[in-house]
Amino acid sequence: MQNICILGATGSIGQSTIDVVVRHPELYQVYALTAHTNIDKLIEQARLCQPKYLVLSDIGQYKQAKQALLYSGIKSVLLSGAQALADVASADDVDVVMAAIVGGAGLLPTIAAVKAGKKVLLANKESLVMSGELFMDAAREHNAQLLPIDSEHNAIFQCLPHDYQYGDLASSGISSILLTGSGGPFRETAFGELTHVTPAQACAHPNWVMGQKISVDSATMMNKGLEFIEARWLFGLQSSDIKVVLHPQSIIHSMVQYRDGSVLAQMGNPDMRTPIAHGLAYPKRIDSGVQPLDFQTVSNFSFSLPEPKRYPNLYLAIEAANAGQSATTALNAANEVAVAAFLSGNIGFTQIAQINEQCLTQMGACQLDNIDAIVAWDHECRSATQQIISSYAREAN
Ligand code: NAD
Ligand code: MG
Repeated sequence: MQNICILGATGSIGQSTIDVVVRHPELYQVYALTAHTNIDKLIEQARLCQPKYLVLSDIGQYKQAKQALLYSGIKSVLLSGAQALADVASADDVDVVMAAIVGGAGLLPTIAAVKAGKKVLLANKESLVMSGELFMDAAREHNAQLLPIDSEHNAIFQCLPHDYQYGDLASSGISSILLTGSGGPFRETAFGELTHVTPAQACAHPNWVMGQKISVDSATMMNKGLEFIEARWLFGLQSSDIKVVLHPQSIIHSMVQYRDGSVLAQMGNPDMRTPIAHGLAYPKRIDSGVQPLDFQTVSNFSFSLPEPKRYPNLYLAIEAANAGQSATTALNAANEVAVAAFLSGNIGFTQIAQINEQCLTQMGACQLDNIDAIVAWDHECRSATQQIISSYAREAN
């Protein structure tokens, strides 16, 4: 029986994780569930999973949550605040941590799980983008088992040989890693119309149902950019090892190309319960609830390359990956602030990439040797981005 802590339980990945976990009560028991503000959902999930702990990271709502929990009759202990997230993620009784908080808020609890040597199911790509080498070093030092949940990285992991040596593509006969992406909802939209895209249009992904931030990132292809950086760290790759390929049907989730001409692809319906079940049960296989792929309905596969003019964020991320840690941390921070500003109607869709680029140029490079330095740099970059956004608003008036 494995004890699981689900960070970000009320989100899209968190809900899919619970869906898989409750199918296997003989294998998994929920130790803790965390949410930021969604008390109702957290209580509904607690009723289903009966965890020992619930964490509401937003301290301001603690009293209200405590009251709601009391009325519900649920016995879980309620904790609150950022430290409580790290505490449940590193608790002795926990075997597996699902890292599914969105954005930089996931960094400290995910690192806490890594440093406690847990089996970490990594959905929160931003934490790896923010802290790459420190994160991977901590995993090695503390014997944490990292399993990729991002569907592309999970696919690559499944297509790599079992004896793959970190960073050594040549010994495994691998010539490249093909990172696939759908191209999002605006793959064919006329360039002139992109400036008028609304948050609702950007969040309507053609194949996946996801949280708002990753949906906007998919529309700008910043998501593929973050995944490019994520792949470099997870598998020890150089930028030249990775090729981004558009595959609008989202059936192939990524591929590994070998020297002898073979290409191995992992396929399946676009449903995150597949990589979640894979990570949970690895190296075994369990039912996930995902519909089997029906080849009568998915006969039409197509592929193309992403256009730089349409997806400037993807290319900014690749440049940042080549520039180093301070650039990828800055880009992640800028992007989170810019996406939030877009979602609240303060900037236009195409301004997200412009603001990201401006932040990267303005902030330059610096040395980041520890997690405190990463957190401080992240804060600085967020403030700088807020100022850039304010200057845009002043220009518009
Ligand atoms: P979501 O917005 O649906 O859920 C986010 C979760 O994080 C919620 O439980 C929320 O309460 C919590 N949260 C938000 N802000 C927080 C804060 N400041 N402090 C603590 N907790 C906070 O997001 P999602 O789509 O489930 O994505 C979660 C992560 O998984 C992201 O990093 C995303 O990139 C990654 N991911 C998601 C998908 C997907 O299909 N949704 C696929 C691949 C990777
Ligand atoms: Mg992905």
